[in-house]
Amino acid sequence: MKRYCINSDCSEHQSKHLQSANSGRVSKKGTFYRLCDRRYIQRFKCLVCRTQFSKATFDPDYRQHRREINEMLFLFLASGVTQRRSAILLKTDRKTISRKLKILGARAKEDHAEWLEERFSETPIRHIQFDDLETVEHTKCKPLSVTLAVQNKSREILDIQVKRMPAKGPLSRVARKKYGPRKDERPAGWDQLFRNLKSLLHANVLCESDENPHYPQFVRSHLPQARHVRHKGARGAIVGQGELKKLKFDPLFSLNHTCAMLRANVNRLFRKTWSTTKKVECLVDHLWIYVRYHNAVLVNSDPGFVPTQRSQLGGG
Ligand SMILES: [Zn+2]
Repeated sequence: MKRYCINSDCSEHQSKHLQSANSGRVSKKGTFYRLCDRRYIQRFKCLVCRTQFSKATFDPDYRQHRREINEMLFLFLASGVTQRRSAILLKTDRKTISRKLKILGARAKEDHAEWLEERFSETPIRHIQFDDLETVEHTKCKPLSVTLAVQNKSREILDIQVKRMPAKGPLSRVARKKYGPRKDERPAGWDQLFRNLKSLLHANVLCESDENPHYPQFVRSHLPQARHVRHKGARGAIVGQGELKKLKFDPLFSLNHTCAMLRANVNRLFRKTWSTTKKVECLVDHLWIYVRYHNAVLVNSDPGFVPTQRSQLGGG
């Protein structure tokens, strides 16, 4: 078992003395009873600096309330259940849910980066599709753009970027009057997306998108040898279902199908909804949870998928 002093100034701290992890300079010092899961947790004391800590200190769920609901909450949030309903179903407070959304989202993002590296570092991606999906921040006057890139055919989501954008059309005047000017942050998002993916893409990767006039410059600057094919937009198949097209053959099917799945499974992206995003960061966390589930379970059916990293110490 890993056991080292948590005090970073101490000579027994892990980063300095990996070998001395069980050197005997850390001794057991009683236990404490953790109420939430009714377990006794071992306490330790460093004999060098006298810092005290416990098995729980090393747990990824350290200091969390109701850790036993994390897994279920992850599945709920990836399956269209609202935060409010999750709180009711899991018999907990909405504050607990929103704190957990943040933790689970950050973890999902990290896990995704690891997964990407593992999956594509040996076999670079040869064909991607990318586009923006629009949603709102609290009101239609404050639109948000979710840029996503998917691998063609497998429909694995490679990256997402959420950025603010100004309102368009008739709403733009009202929006400016009510909320002032709103910066268009989308270019930074497109730039970041290609920056993140560059190392995983084949030099001659085929990129497909719609005819958005901004896209070509980003593809060209990051992937000078790539082939960029742009397709004319088409109308949605059913009213309110913008992404599934009324075409016999939709050239951007992988992408549009994925967007439709996002809308169907992340409740705040439902088109007609009373649950909207109040904070951009929450949308980002929520999206990463979905992306993780999408890639592992919905398109790859990985039987060993664990929604949240469990403690490497066997709980504690
Ligand atoms: Zn110490």
